[in-house]
Amino acid sequence: MDGDLTNKSHYKCCFCNTIIQSSYSDPCAIDILINFDKSKKEQYNQVFYCHMNCFKRELSNEMQSYFYLESLVESKMSLDEE
Ligand SMILES: [Zn+2]
Repeated sequence: MDGDLTNKSHYKCCFCNTIIQSSYSDPCAIDILINFDKSKKEQYNQVFYCHMNCFKRELSNEMQSYFYLESLVESKMSLDEE
């Protein structure tokens, strides 16, 4: 693994392995917590970066219907334009 993963000037997407350009929704961070159902001392987390669209694409069809962050960002953008 190279050092690019944590270099804030160019985050790399963990799904498509390309540099993430800053946009209205990107970069996204995925904070994965293992042993979620265990005690805190048995839990560990790691952060990965991705494009919002890559994350959404990897979700199952059912889970995509629960993904609401995109609509939150878009509604905020339309409020800012008023
Ligand atoms: Zn990507």
